[in-house]
Amino acid sequence: MDETKTPKRRRSVLRAAGLAALAPIAVPRARAQDKLQGSMVLYQDKPKDGQKCSNCLHFQPPNACAIVAGEISPEGWCAVWAKKEG
Ligand code: SF4
Repeated sequence: MDETKTPKRRRSVLRAAGLAALAPIAVPRARAQDKLQGSMVLYQDKPKDGQKCSNCLHFQPPNACAIVAGEISPEGWCAVWAKKEG
């Protein structure tokens, strides 16, 4: 067995283990920056029980949302609707 290769291999394994340990931290950060797909939150282009995007806290006029990706109708709705105060 070549003794000179063992420390190198060990460093390589430890380096890989270090990156693997950081992965759970990096993934939630990346996800937090991404918006949800409409299908994930049951987005629809019509109101539901008086709730609609234009009276939702997350609505960004004229047609965007802070949480859901894509073009958002002011008359739309999704499962994460939250009442806009004021
Ligand atoms: S109801 Fe609110 S959270 Fe859902 S898509 Fe409309 S603005 Fe965004």
